[in-house]
Amino acid sequence: MNAVGLQGVSKSYTEGQNAVADLNLTVAAGELLVLVGPSGSGKTTTLRLVAGLERLTRGRIFLGPQDVTEWPPWQRDVAMIFQRPALYPHLRVRANLTVGRDLRQGRRWWHRPPHRTDPAVRDLARQLGIDSLLERWPAELSGGEQQRVALGRALLRQPAVILLDEPFSALEPDLRIELRRDLHLLQRRQGATILYVTHDAAEALALGDRIAFLHRGRVLQVGTPDEMQQEPRWRQVASFFSPWPLRFLSGECGERGLQTTTGLLPLRPSETARWPPGRTLELAFPPSAVQLVSTDVGGLEGSVQFVEACPGMRWLVTFQSGVGVLTALTDQAPPHPGETVRAVIHWDQVRWFDATTGQTLSTC
Ligand code: ADP
Ligand code: MG
Repeated sequence: MNAVGLQGVSKSYTEGQNAVADLNLTVAAGELLVLVGPSGSGKTTTLRLVAGLERLTRGRIFLGPQDVTEWPPWQRDVAMIFQRPALYPHLRVRANLTVGRDLRQGRRWWHRPPHRTDPAVRDLARQLGIDSLLERWPAELSGGEQQRVALGRALLRQPAVILLDEPFSALEPDLRIELRRDLHLLQRRQGATILYVTHDAAEALALGDRIAFLHRGRVLQVGTPDEMQQEPRWRQVASFFSPWPLRFLSGECGERGLQTTTGLLPLRPSETARWPPGRTLELAFPPSAVQLVSTDVGGLEGSVQFVEACPGMRWLVTFQSGVGVLTALTDQAPPHPGETVRAVIHWDQVRWFDATTGQTLSTC
Protein backbone atom coordinates (compact mmCIF):
# COMPACT_ATOMS: atom_id res chain seq x y z
CA MET A 1 0.00 0.00 0.00
CA ASN A 2 1.12 3.52 -0.64
CA ALA A 3 1.63 5.66 2.45
CA VAL A 4 1.93 8.85 0.42
CA GLY A 5 0.64 9.73 -3.03
CA LEU A 6 1.07 12.91 -5.01
CA GLN A 7 -1.09 13.21 -8.10
CA GLY A 8 -0.39 15.94 -10.61
CA VAL A 9 0.79 18.28 -7.86
CA SER A 10 1.83 21.80 -8.87
CA LYS A 11 2.71 24.76 -6.72
CA SER A 12 3.41 28.23 -7.94
CA TYR A 13 4.38 31.01 -5.55
CA THR A 14 4.53 33.57 -8.32
CA GLU A 15 2.13 33.71 -11.25
CA GLY A 16 3.44 31.73 -14.20
CA GLN A 17 6.35 30.14 -12.30
CA ASN A 18 6.04 26.63 -10.94
CA ALA A 19 8.18 25.74 -7.92
CA VAL A 20 6.94 22.19 -8.49
CA ALA A 21 5.12 21.11 -11.61
CA ASP A 22 2.87 18.13 -12.26
CA LEU A 23 4.49 15.94 -9.66
CA ASN A 24 3.42 12.30 -9.58
CA LEU A 25 5.07 10.37 -6.82
CA THR A 26 4.26 7.58 -4.37
CA VAL A 27 5.99 6.38 -1.25
CA ALA A 28 5.15 2.79 -0.28
CA ALA A 29 4.49 1.94 3.35
CA GLY A 30 7.83 1.14 4.99
CA GLU A 31 9.80 2.67 2.15
CA LEU A 32 12.56 5.26 2.38
CA LEU A 33 12.23 7.46 -0.69
CA VAL A 34 14.91 10.08 -1.25
CA LEU A 35 13.97 13.24 -3.07
CA VAL A 36 17.16 14.63 -4.53
CA GLY A 37 18.09 17.48 -6.81
CA PRO A 38 20.06 20.69 -7.02
CA SER A 39 19.25 23.70 -4.90
CA GLY A 40 16.00 25.37 -5.96
CA SER A 41 14.61 22.25 -7.66
CA GLY A 42 11.51 22.15 -5.44
CA LYS A 43 12.43 19.61 -2.76
CA THR A 44 11.45 21.67 0.29
CA THR A 45 8.28 22.83 -1.43
CA THR A 46 7.28 19.21 -2.05
CA LEU A 47 7.76 18.31 1.63
CA ARG A 48 5.85 21.39 2.77
CA LEU A 49 2.98 20.46 0.48
CA VAL A 50 2.81 16.95 1.94
CA ALA A 51 2.92 18.39 5.47
CA GLY A 52 0.15 20.86 4.61
CA LEU A 53 2.33 23.91 5.23
CA GLU A 54 1.66 25.16 1.68
CA ARG A 55 -1.51 25.09 -0.38
CA LEU A 56 -1.37 23.33 -3.72
CA THR A 57 -2.02 25.23 -6.91
CA ARG A 58 -3.16 22.02 -8.60
CA GLY A 59 -3.33 18.27 -7.87
CA ARG A 60 -4.20 15.96 -4.98
CA ILE A 61 -2.25 14.59 -2.03
CA PHE A 62 -3.06 11.28 -0.36
CA LEU A 63 -1.93 9.84 2.95
CA GLY A 64 -2.81 6.16 2.79
CA PRO A 65 -6.25 5.95 1.19
CA GLN A 66 -7.28 9.42 2.37
CA ASP A 67 -7.32 12.51 0.21
CA VAL A 68 -5.79 15.10 2.56
CA THR A 69 -5.43 17.91 0.02
CA GLU A 70 -7.70 20.24 1.98
CA TRP A 71 -6.61 19.14 5.45
CA PRO A 72 -4.68 21.54 7.69
CA PRO A 73 -1.24 20.42 8.91
CA TRP A 74 -2.33 19.40 12.40
CA GLN A 75 -4.86 16.92 11.01
CA ARG A 76 -2.28 15.22 8.82
CA ASP A 77 -0.47 12.28 10.33
CA VAL A 78 3.03 13.45 9.42
CA ALA A 79 6.19 14.39 11.31
CA MET A 80 8.64 16.81 9.76
CA ILE A 81 12.30 17.29 10.67
CA PHE A 82 14.18 20.31 9.39
CA GLN A 83 17.87 21.06 8.94
CA ARG A 84 17.92 22.80 12.33
CA PRO A 85 16.37 20.67 15.06
CA ALA A 86 13.22 22.16 16.55
CA LEU A 87 12.95 20.94 20.14
CA TYR A 88 10.83 22.42 22.93
CA PRO A 89 13.42 24.37 24.97
CA HIS A 90 11.35 24.18 28.15
CA LEU A 91 11.05 20.37 28.09
CA ARG A 92 13.74 17.91 29.04
CA VAL A 93 14.89 15.36 26.44
CA ARG A 94 12.57 12.65 27.82
CA ALA A 95 9.51 14.86 27.41
CA ASN A 96 10.70 16.12 24.04
CA LEU A 97 10.81 12.51 22.88
CA THR A 98 7.34 11.58 24.06
CA VAL A 99 5.39 14.78 23.47
CA GLY A 100 4.39 13.96 19.88
CA ARG A 101 3.25 10.44 20.68
CA ASP A 102 1.37 11.44 23.82
CA LEU A 103 -0.43 14.36 22.22
CA ARG A 104 -1.46 12.10 19.37
CA GLN A 105 -2.82 9.56 21.82
CA GLY A 106 -4.73 12.32 23.57
CA ARG A 107 -2.63 12.07 26.71
CA ARG A 108 -2.31 15.24 28.72
CA TRP A 109 1.39 14.87 29.24
CA TRP A 110 1.77 18.16 31.06
CA HIS A 111 -0.35 16.77 33.90
CA ARG A 112 1.39 13.42 33.95
CA PRO A 113 5.07 13.67 33.08
CA PRO A 114 6.38 10.77 31.02
CA HIS A 115 7.04 7.68 33.07
CA ARG A 116 10.71 7.08 33.74
CA THR A 117 10.61 3.40 32.81
CA ASP A 118 8.57 3.67 29.63
CA PRO A 119 10.13 0.72 27.72
CA ALA A 120 9.50 2.17 24.25
CA VAL A 121 11.31 5.37 25.17
CA ARG A 122 14.14 3.51 26.84
CA ASP A 123 14.73 1.20 23.86
CA LEU A 124 14.56 3.95 21.30
CA ALA A 125 16.85 6.20 23.34
CA ARG A 126 19.35 3.39 23.59
CA GLN A 127 19.24 2.72 19.86
CA LEU A 128 19.76 6.42 19.20
CA GLY A 129 22.59 6.63 21.73
CA ILE A 130 20.84 9.29 23.82
CA ASP A 131 19.85 7.16 26.83
CA SER A 132 22.26 9.04 29.09
CA LEU A 133 20.83 12.41 28.03
CA LEU A 134 17.17 11.94 28.96
CA GLU A 135 17.21 14.37 31.89
CA ARG A 136 19.03 17.15 30.01
CA TRP A 137 17.57 20.32 28.55
CA PRO A 138 17.85 20.84 24.75
CA ALA A 139 20.28 23.75 25.32
CA GLU A 140 22.67 21.27 26.95
CA LEU A 141 22.92 19.12 23.79
CA SER A 142 25.20 19.32 20.75
CA GLY A 143 23.66 19.79 17.27
CA GLY A 144 23.98 16.09 16.48
CA GLU A 145 22.38 15.10 19.82
CA GLN A 146 19.51 17.51 19.26
CA GLN A 147 18.87 15.99 15.85
CA ARG A 148 18.90 12.52 17.42
CA VAL A 149 16.19 13.65 19.85
CA ALA A 150 14.14 15.11 16.98
CA LEU A 151 14.48 11.79 15.11
CA GLY A 152 13.50 9.88 18.23
CA ARG A 153 10.40 12.02 18.69
CA ALA A 154 9.29 11.39 15.12
CA LEU A 155 9.98 7.64 15.26
CA LEU A 156 8.22 7.21 18.60
CA ARG A 157 5.12 8.89 17.26
CA GLN A 158 4.90 6.45 14.35
CA PRO A 159 3.18 8.79 11.91
CA ALA A 160 2.05 7.77 8.42
CA VAL A 161 5.20 9.38 7.06
CA ILE A 162 8.27 11.14 8.41
CA LEU A 163 9.46 14.03 6.26
CA LEU A 164 13.10 15.02 6.59
CA ASP A 165 14.51 18.14 4.93
CA GLU A 166 18.31 17.91 4.72
CA PRO A 167 18.36 16.93 8.40
CA PHE A 168 22.09 16.33 8.74
CA SER A 169 23.53 18.92 6.38
CA ALA A 170 24.53 21.30 9.20
CA LEU A 171 26.62 18.58 10.87
CA GLU A 172 30.25 17.75 10.23
CA PRO A 173 30.85 14.94 7.68
CA ASP A 174 31.71 12.08 10.08
CA LEU A 175 28.71 12.80 12.27
CA ARG A 176 26.47 13.09 9.22
CA ILE A 177 27.42 9.58 8.09
CA GLU A 178 26.94 8.20 11.61
CA LEU A 179 23.46 9.71 11.97
CA ARG A 180 22.51 8.59 8.49
CA ARG A 181 23.43 5.00 9.38
CA ASP A 182 21.49 5.12 12.65
CA LEU A 183 18.43 6.51 10.88
CA HIS A 184 18.67 3.80 8.23
CA LEU A 185 18.90 1.04 10.83
CA LEU A 186 15.99 2.38 12.89
CA GLN A 187 13.85 2.90 9.80
CA ARG A 188 14.41 -0.75 8.82
CA ARG A 189 13.69 -2.01 12.34
CA GLN A 190 10.52 0.00 12.74
CA GLY A 191 9.32 -0.18 9.15
CA ALA A 192 8.84 3.61 9.17
CA THR A 193 7.84 5.37 5.96
CA ILE A 194 10.25 8.18 5.16
CA LEU A 195 10.44 10.89 2.53
CA TYR A 196 13.99 12.23 2.80
CA VAL A 197 15.27 15.34 1.05
CA THR A 198 18.92 15.94 0.25
CA HIS A 199 21.02 17.65 -2.40
CA ASP A 200 23.86 15.18 -1.79
CA ALA A 201 24.16 12.36 -4.34
CA ALA A 202 26.20 10.13 -2.02
CA GLU A 203 23.59 10.49 0.74
CA ALA A 204 20.76 9.69 -1.68
CA LEU A 205 22.53 6.56 -2.91
CA ALA A 206 23.38 5.41 0.61
CA LEU A 207 19.88 5.82 2.04
CA GLY A 208 17.27 5.42 -0.65
CA ASP A 209 15.20 2.33 -1.37
CA ARG A 210 14.28 4.47 -4.35
CA ILE A 211 15.40 7.91 -5.42
CA ALA A 212 13.33 10.58 -7.17
CA PHE A 213 15.41 13.16 -9.02
CA LEU A 214 13.89 16.64 -9.20
CA HIS A 215 14.94 19.22 -11.76
CA ARG A 216 13.28 22.61 -11.95
CA GLY A 217 10.23 21.36 -10.08
CA ARG A 218 9.75 18.24 -12.19
CA VAL A 219 10.57 14.62 -11.44
CA LEU A 220 12.93 13.54 -14.20
CA GLN A 221 13.49 9.99 -13.02
CA VAL A 222 12.55 7.65 -10.19
CA GLY A 223 14.57 4.52 -9.60
CA THR A 224 16.73 2.43 -7.33
CA PRO A 225 20.25 3.68 -6.55
CA ASP A 226 21.60 1.20 -9.12
CA GLU A 227 19.20 2.38 -11.82
CA MET A 228 20.02 6.03 -11.25
CA GLN A 229 23.72 5.31 -11.68
CA GLN A 230 23.65 2.71 -14.43
CA GLU A 231 20.62 3.75 -16.46
CA PRO A 232 20.24 7.52 -16.13
CA ARG A 233 17.58 8.65 -18.57
CA TRP A 234 18.62 12.31 -18.59
CA ARG A 235 21.92 14.17 -18.80
CA GLN A 236 21.16 15.88 -15.47
CA VAL A 237 20.72 12.51 -13.73
CA ALA A 238 23.90 11.09 -15.29
CA SER A 239 25.85 14.17 -14.25
CA PHE A 240 24.40 14.29 -10.72
CA PHE A 241 25.20 10.68 -9.82
CA SER A 242 28.56 10.43 -11.56
CA PRO A 243 31.40 10.07 -9.04
CA TRP A 244 33.55 12.27 -11.32
CA PRO A 245 32.56 15.46 -13.13
CA LEU A 246 31.45 14.48 -16.63
CA ARG A 247 32.80 16.18 -19.75
CA PHE A 248 29.95 17.01 -22.13
CA LEU A 249 30.63 17.55 -25.82
CA SER A 250 27.91 18.32 -28.32
CA GLY A 251 28.05 18.48 -32.06
CA GLU A 252 26.79 17.17 -35.34
CA CYS A 253 27.39 13.63 -36.49
CA GLY A 254 29.31 13.19 -39.73
CA GLU A 255 31.02 10.29 -41.46
CA ARG A 256 34.30 10.86 -39.66
CA GLY A 257 33.03 11.75 -36.25
CA LEU A 258 31.34 14.37 -34.11
CA GLN A 259 31.86 17.90 -35.39
CA THR A 260 31.88 20.18 -32.35
CA THR A 261 32.18 23.94 -32.49
CA THR A 262 35.89 23.63 -31.68
CA GLY A 263 36.92 20.61 -33.75
CA LEU A 264 36.32 17.06 -34.86
CA LEU A 265 36.09 14.22 -32.36
CA PRO A 266 36.79 11.05 -34.34
CA LEU A 267 34.26 8.32 -33.56
CA ARG A 268 34.59 4.59 -34.06
CA PRO A 269 32.91 3.41 -37.31
CA SER A 270 30.45 1.43 -35.18
CA GLU A 271 29.40 4.69 -33.50
CA THR A 272 29.09 6.79 -36.66
CA ALA A 273 27.01 3.98 -38.20
CA ARG A 274 24.49 4.28 -35.36
CA TRP A 275 23.56 7.88 -36.03
CA PRO A 276 22.23 9.43 -39.21
CA PRO A 277 24.56 12.09 -40.64
CA GLY A 278 23.56 15.55 -39.47
CA ARG A 279 22.10 14.33 -36.20
CA THR A 280 23.01 16.59 -33.30
CA LEU A 281 24.20 14.65 -30.30
CA GLU A 282 25.72 15.29 -26.94
CA LEU A 283 28.06 12.82 -25.40
CA ALA A 284 29.45 12.67 -21.89
CA PHE A 285 32.30 10.81 -20.30
CA PRO A 286 34.16 10.80 -16.98
CA PRO A 287 37.94 11.36 -16.69
CA SER A 288 38.35 7.59 -16.29
CA ALA A 289 37.19 7.21 -19.93
CA VAL A 290 40.14 9.28 -21.14
CA GLN A 291 43.38 7.32 -21.15
CA LEU A 292 46.78 8.88 -21.75
CA VAL A 293 48.81 6.87 -24.26
CA SER A 294 52.37 7.09 -25.51
CA THR A 295 52.86 9.84 -28.04
CA ASP A 296 53.59 7.56 -31.00
CA VAL A 297 50.14 5.98 -30.83
CA GLY A 298 47.21 7.77 -32.50
CA GLY A 299 44.51 9.52 -30.53
CA LEU A 300 43.73 13.06 -29.50
CA GLU A 301 46.70 15.33 -29.06
CA GLY A 302 46.81 18.06 -26.46
CA SER A 303 48.91 20.32 -24.34
CA VAL A 304 48.79 19.80 -20.56
CA GLN A 305 47.33 22.72 -18.62
CA PHE A 306 47.38 21.42 -15.08
CA VAL A 307 47.68 18.29 -12.97
CA GLU A 308 45.80 17.52 -9.77
CA ALA A 309 46.57 14.71 -7.34
CA CYS A 310 43.60 12.57 -6.19
CA PRO A 311 43.23 9.99 -3.42
CA GLY A 312 44.68 6.57 -4.26
CA MET A 313 47.83 7.87 -5.99
CA ARG A 314 45.99 8.97 -9.10
CA TRP A 315 46.12 12.21 -11.04
CA LEU A 316 43.68 14.25 -13.04
CA VAL A 317 45.48 15.62 -16.08
CA THR A 318 43.69 18.48 -17.83
CA PHE A 319 44.81 19.28 -21.37
CA GLN A 320 43.74 21.46 -24.27
CA SER A 321 42.85 19.27 -27.26
CA GLY A 322 41.38 19.90 -30.68
CA VAL A 323 37.87 19.36 -29.30
CA GLY A 324 38.34 21.53 -26.24
CA VAL A 325 39.59 20.98 -22.72
CA LEU A 326 39.62 17.31 -21.65
CA THR A 327 40.58 15.66 -18.39
CA ALA A 328 42.18 12.24 -18.08
CA LEU A 329 42.54 10.10 -14.96
CA THR A 330 45.84 8.28 -14.66
CA ASP A 331 47.67 6.17 -12.12
CA GLN A 332 50.99 6.56 -13.99
CA ALA A 333 53.51 9.28 -13.22
CA PRO A 334 51.73 12.32 -14.64
CA PRO A 335 53.12 14.67 -17.31
CA HIS A 336 54.01 18.28 -16.52
CA PRO A 337 52.12 21.39 -17.58
CA GLY A 338 53.13 22.42 -21.10
CA GLU A 339 53.99 18.87 -22.21
CA THR A 340 52.25 17.32 -25.20
CA VAL A 341 50.10 14.27 -24.47
CA ARG A 342 47.96 11.89 -26.48
CA ALA A 343 44.80 10.28 -25.23
CA VAL A 344 42.25 7.71 -26.36
CA ILE A 345 38.64 7.54 -25.27
CA HIS A 346 37.11 4.35 -23.91
CA TRP A 347 33.81 4.32 -25.71
CA ASP A 348 32.19 1.85 -23.35
CA GLN A 349 32.16 4.63 -20.72
CA VAL A 350 30.55 7.20 -23.01
CA ARG A 351 26.88 8.14 -22.68
CA TRP A 352 24.86 9.61 -25.53
CA PHE A 353 22.15 12.22 -25.21
CA ASP A 354 19.82 14.07 -27.50
CA ALA A 355 21.53 17.47 -27.71
CA THR A 356 18.20 19.32 -27.61
CA THR A 357 16.23 17.50 -24.92
CA GLY A 358 19.05 16.02 -22.83
CA GLN A 359 17.33 12.63 -22.94
CA THR A 360 19.51 9.51 -22.99
CA LEU A 361 19.74 7.90 -26.42
CA SER A 362 21.36 4.69 -25.28
CA THR A 363 23.64 3.49 -22.57
CA CYS A 364 26.64 1.36 -23.34
P1 ADP B 1 14.93 23.26 -2.85
O1 ADP B 1 14.44 22.85 -1.51
O2 ADP B 1 15.04 22.12 -3.83
O3 ADP B 1 16.22 24.01 -2.78
P2 ADP B 1 12.61 25.01 -2.87
O4 ADP B 1 11.44 24.10 -2.80
O5 ADP B 1 13.00 25.69 -1.62
O6 ADP B 1 13.86 24.24 -3.51
O7 ADP B 1 12.34 26.13 -3.96
C1 ADP B 1 11.87 25.85 -5.27
C2 ADP B 1 11.63 27.17 -5.98
O8 ADP B 1 10.56 27.87 -5.37
C3 ADP B 1 12.81 28.10 -5.96
O9 ADP B 1 12.87 28.75 -7.20
C4 ADP B 1 12.47 29.06 -4.85
O10 ADP B 1 13.05 30.32 -5.08
C5 ADP B 1 10.96 29.14 -4.93
N1 ADP B 1 10.34 29.39 -3.61
C6 ADP B 1 10.44 28.59 -2.53
N2 ADP B 1 9.72 29.08 -1.48
C7 ADP B 1 9.17 30.24 -1.93
C8 ADP B 1 8.31 31.22 -1.34
N3 ADP B 1 7.87 31.10 -0.08
N4 ADP B 1 7.94 32.28 -2.11
C9 ADP B 1 8.36 32.38 -3.39
N5 ADP B 1 9.15 31.50 -4.00
C10 ADP B 1 9.56 30.43 -3.30
MG1 MG C 1 15.35 23.06 0.39
